[in-house]
Amino acid sequence: MFHNLVPDLFVHDISAIDLNKLKENGISAVILDLDNTLDSHETKTPSARALSFLEELKAGGFLVCVISNGKRRRVEAYLVGFEIPFVADAGKPLKKSYRKALNTLGCRQENTAFVGDQIFTDTWGANRMGLFTILVEPIEAFETPLFYIKRALERFVKAKLLKE
Ligand SMILES: [Mg+2]
Repeated sequence: MFHNLVPDLFVHDISAIDLNKLKENGISAVILDLDNTLDSHETKTPSARALSFLEELKAGGFLVCVISNGKRRRVEAYLVGFEIPFVADAGKPLKKSYRKALNTLGCRQENTAFVGDQIFTDTWGANRMGLFTILVEPIEAFETPLFYIKRALERFVKAKLLKE
């Protein structure tokens, strides 16, 4: 069971994913989680980082689908204007939404990567489906005020420690 919680690849964020490498390894489709993977919950439309990743995927000829446990209206509004299929209210880690995405894209699990920020939903479900799993750091962890407060505290503590 535990090996299904371990991603094949762990990167800081979507911009650190090497798409050429994925292609070399036979990956032709990428399924994406939305919240905290592409953008934070509060981000209504794709940010510059998400846009550039989506464009890179398109330019690379990858098939793309979004699977989100979020509400349909949230996912639909975020992806408006993009020709990207999605599964909302997905109930990850249940396998059915991953199956639905694979069927929609018409691709096989061994040629598909899944990118998400949560081990117990995204990674667990995708590993059980036999996808290549990529885990990213949750965006809110590094973009919310709480993050900055935490980082400031860490710096303060480190500075203190270094002085002693
Ligand atoms: Mg997420």
